[in-house]
Amino acid sequence: MTDCLFCKIVSGDVPATIVRESAGTVAFRDINPQAPTHVLVIPRDHHPTVGELADSDAELLAELVREAHQVAVDEGVAETGYRVVFNTGSQAGQTVFHAHAHVLGGRGLNWPPG
Ligand code: C5P
Repeated sequence: MTDCLFCKIVSGDVPATIVRESAGTVAFRDINPQAPTHVLVIPRDHHPTVGELADSDAELLAELVREAHQVAVDEGVAETGYRVVFNTGSQAGQTVFHAHAHVLGGRGLNWPPG
């Protein structure tokens, strides 16, 4: 999608600090980190939400979740604990409508979330 910010990160038209890539996904550091580790994992293909991604390409969603786990391993937070968040819809705080997993770790994370 030409006007999608995360599609532009995938194409290299918008810069990002990329930490990991797979055939179907790109992982990069969030520009406004909410934890010592805060990485976004996105599909290369445009899908507006994780629900739409699940319905249209379940294998790609599985790849994205595997990559999120691998980011946590690479960042050294897999043992202590980390959180994978898919904000879905504006009331849940989704601001970029290209599906993305937030991988958060490196500090205690409260429950329930705000
Ligand atoms: O879940 P939500 O849609 O709110 O998440 C979007 C995330 O994308 C935000 O955490 C924001 O900081 C991040 N972002 C980014 N790089 C950009 C624009 C937004 O990491 N260029």
